[in-house]
Amino acid sequence: MAKVPVAPMIDGLKVTFDNLFRPPTTIQFPEERRPEQARERGMPVLRSFPDTGECRCVACGLCEVVCPGHCLEVHAQPEGGDRRVRILEAYILDASHCLFCGYCAAACPVEAVVMSDIQDMAGFSRRNMIFDLQQLMELGRRFEPTYQATKGAVEFRLPDPDTESGRLLENKPLDLSEGPVERPTPVAVPVRSKSV
Ligand code: SF4
Ligand code: SF4
Repeated sequence: MAKVPVAPMIDGLKVTFDNLFRPPTTIQFPEERRPEQARERGMPVLRSFPDTGECRCVACGLCEVVCPGHCLEVHAQPEGGDRRVRILEAYILDASHCLFCGYCAAACPVEAVVMSDIQDMAGFSRRNMIFDLQQLMELGRRFEPTYQATKGAVEFRLPDPDTESGRLLENKPLDLSEGPVERPTPVAVPVRSKSV
């Protein structure tokens, strides 16, 4: 008769019982959220000037060039016949391709595109993942207070402990009342043409 491997069975059951009385590690997202980590990054957003509301982007196109996910499109129009003066016409982010790498923010010479802490961007179709200029600016306006508090380390948004808001952010408590970030209403956006 084959020998029953009792010792390994007991070892396995020990693990089962150990885990039976441990509190669950899962949480009820999005109602419950874990505290944000210092190096966490969300989607890129566009900043605007607080006084005029105009987008800071100067349409240089650097972010589009460096983007490894090919998910940015910058459409600009030369003004007054001068090629060097470019007016931003459209800015499109296809967040379904975004790697959250932060290259666009690092390349931007005027801190117009920055990495936010916004990560709630699930959608029911791929079109829901396309953000246009107005939507990115609206998200940028919401993110601006956090951006100001973390400006000391733009790339990773580490809280700046020299400012009051930075100190608060550093010890950011888990605020469940905040809930998910509200997305701007989707509007008609230009769709990129398929290259064949
Ligand atoms: S974070 Fe990276 S992948 Fe996403 S838009 Fe910027 S450069 Fe492209
Ligand atoms: S790099 Fe900055 S200024 Fe240049 S197109 Fe991108 S967002 Fe605009």
